Amino acid sequence: MDIKNLKVNGKRLRSTLEEMAKIGASPGGGVQRLTLSDEDKTARNLFVKWLKEIDLEVTIDEMGNIFGKRPGKNNDLAPVMSGSHLDSQPKGGRFDGILGVMGALEVMRSIHENKIETERAIIIVDWTNEEGSRFAPAMVASGVWAGKLDRDWAYNRTDINGKKLGEELVRIGYKGRAEAGKWPIHAFYEYHIEQGPILEKLGKTIGAPKGILCLHWYDIHLTGTANQVGPTPMEGRNDALCAGAEMILKVNEAPAKMGGNMVATVGEIHNYPNSRNIIPDGVHFTVDIRSWDDDFAIKAWESLKKDFQKISRRRGTPIRIEETWRVEHAPFDEKLVNRVLESAGELGYTSHYLVSGAGHDASYMNQIAPTAMVFVPSIGGRSHVEVENTTWEDCEAGANVLLYCILKSALEK
Ligand SMILES: [Zn+2]
Repeated sequence: MDIKNLKVNGKRLRSTLEEMAKIGASPGGGVQRLTLSDEDKTARNLFVKWLKEIDLEVTIDEMGNIFGKRPGKNNDLAPVMSGSHLDSQPKGGRFDGILGVMGALEVMRSIHENKIETERAIIIVDWTNEEGSRFAPAMVASGVWAGKLDRDWAYNRTDINGKKLGEELVRIGYKGRAEAGKWPIHAFYEYHIEQGPILEKLGKTIGAPKGILCLHWYDIHLTGTANQVGPTPMEGRNDALCAGAEMILKVNEAPAKMGGNMVATVGEIHNYPNSRNIIPDGVHFTVDIRSWDDDFAIKAWESLKKDFQKISRRRGTPIRIEETWRVEHAPFDEKLVNRVLESAGELGYTSHYLVSGAGHDASYMNQIAPTAMVFVPSIGGRSHVEVENTTWEDCEAGANVLLYCILKSALEK
């Protein structure tokens, strides 16, 4: 079959994305659709309805992952899979994750209406809780599915109000019966916005990441001594927030100290009791370290840990460190990455080979199946914010590349 004349319907993709963006629409033009919230449930219901409209076999597994399968001629062959996530950050954007699911849906719709028969089955997927902002860590359900995280451990993750992930799955009616366990996958493609400035800066339409940086998360808890701020002299205070402040700057300085090749960020901090006239006696903050080199990232962490311990001793604020989560760096499948570049070329789009600094479900998928991603430009390089944006032309271009990639893999015997 010649796929050369086949294209997705850009207008339909746009209206699908616009309809999805109404669910949890936020005043600043973004969306707030936290995982397993009522908004997530509404989005899932709409997604499942759309899957059924094109006769896909819908399966929901015990982690709430939603699969829509289109059989091939030979269903003994491993299927091709594509998708991303429908959940968003608090006050997040309309494209992060959603584009990858709606893009794959548009591919499925195009294949369906053109009555294309593929050798292998094609499966579209929505992974539960990719963002990790309500329940840490991120990418938890693809991690369980890939056999890299424990299911019951995932069920017991709690949000800020003490609600458990497993209970919330039941509450919104998406704890399915199918086992969240991997099966052989011939190729996995995740279509996503770049979430960085590179493609826009270079004026390129399609990005083909060679892989994803490693991602290491830590949680730091400090204990101080609370007291009235007025009568308590400066000497001898055990101020947990001051200890935290020193540590946070050490994190920010770490990449330069290590000579580059990594980024390190503190993005979340909780200060207790958080009162202007009480010396803080409890601080919890997070550390996020990413690099292409896992050992290098661990070396940086070991050095930070020593700094933290010194600061905590000097300030008399005992420290507790949790090594919360580590995902190794993910070098994608060379053949599939080249297929992304080659498909972009065939479609007449400019393209660029790069690295993904953001984590994606593709990280876990890459550990069990040949994997690649398709990126399109983020306007201003902004993401995880309400102004996150990508042109409709680029959304369509990426979906066309995804269509080519999926078909080429699904036509393979
Ligand atoms: Zn995402």
